[in-house]
Amino acid sequence: MNALGIYIHIPFCSSKCHYCDFYSSVPGGSIPEQETLDSMKRELESKIAYLQPSWVPVTAYFGGGTPSVVSGDFVREMISLLGFYLHSFHQSVREITVEANPESLDAAKVESWRKAGVNRVHLGVQTLNPRLLEYLGRRGSPESAQTALSLLRDSGLHNYGADLIYGIYSQTRRDLDAILDLFFAYNVRHISAYVLTLHEGTRLYTDIQRGIKKAASPHRDYFHDRYLEKKLADVGFQRYEISNYAKPGFASLHNILYWKYRPYIGLGAGAHSFLPPFRFAGKKNNRRHPETETDFFSRENEDPRNMHIGLYRYLNYQSFSAFRSLTPAQRNAIAVKMKSLEARGMLELFPHGFRVTPSGAMFNDPLLAEMMD
Ligand code: SF4
Repeated sequence: MNALGIYIHIPFCSSKCHYCDFYSSVPGGSIPEQETLDSMKRELESKIAYLQPSWVPVTAYFGGGTPSVVSGDFVREMISLLGFYLHSFHQSVREITVEANPESLDAAKVESWRKAGVNRVHLGVQTLNPRLLEYLGRRGSPESAQTALSLLRDSGLHNYGADLIYGIYSQTRRDLDAILDLFFAYNVRHISAYVLTLHEGTRLYTDIQRGIKKAASPHRDYFHDRYLEKKLADVGFQRYEISNYAKPGFASLHNILYWKYRPYIGLGAGAHSFLPPFRFAGKKNNRRHPETETDFFSRENEDPRNMHIGLYRYLNYQSFSAFRSLTPAQRNAIAVKMKSLEARGMLELFPHGFRVTPSGAMFNDPLLAEMMD
């Protein structure tokens, strides 16, 4: 059996954050939910043909965009489509996640998700400081974050988490303390802590290029990263991926599938699918969905860099099985690099697998660059 993930991209947001490079549109009027469901259904029908009998769906993840801007009915309909087309879905699925933003979350929505089978919600809070929210061009407030977290705590959902961003210009440890204290007060089980990345083409990137805004110093990012890791470890969170921390038993099964290079179906405009021997990249355009570009994946043409991106961000033991699809020459080249990283204390090698060491986690970007070189 090979675990299969399903990613459902909800390509709508209430407004566009200035740092964001995910594909999403801001509808002027109401969200065209029925059209979106219909085109996702067509996309699912077309992708079914590429599934192998040994692949079993174990996770579904509603990401975006902002999944909480669509109705609870949309999520329910989508889950029932998955059950209709993937026959073992309702028996085999172990985790169904919906990402939410505090401003579009309400108790009725969470209840309808729960009834439909959703067992995990992740809340995009990012920061509580209004000045930093403004810098990010993002909606939000401490009050809405608190209301949404209290709603999740009281919803009966056992597994819920939240995101924060660090590496924002002028952000202080006190800002980090404020958001962590809120997360701890509401007993979140999973925290994603992303360093702010400046993506070319975003408004924030342009503002910084033009000198309208300043960028944080990498030095400070590094100290904030260390600070977060220590504070989270002190209250029992394990860092299991470069940007992800979980209480025992609450690591995201869906994201682990990506990092371990397992197959997944992506639905929605701009979503990617990895259904070996094929890869699909959806057009980043709601009007052209479900058009996709297809790449043939084979031992000969696979770029090992595609697998490195996830493999070295995951911080627990991994077997060498992910490299099985590569040619002997590619595997030998990887083995040489791994031995060199082992000698420098960044990787630990075992007879059948490897693990990124704390030093490899701390210097993950150079490690990744070396493996991808
Ligand atoms: S809400 Fe999320 S997906 Fe939407 S623009 Fe902001 S960061 Fe991007």
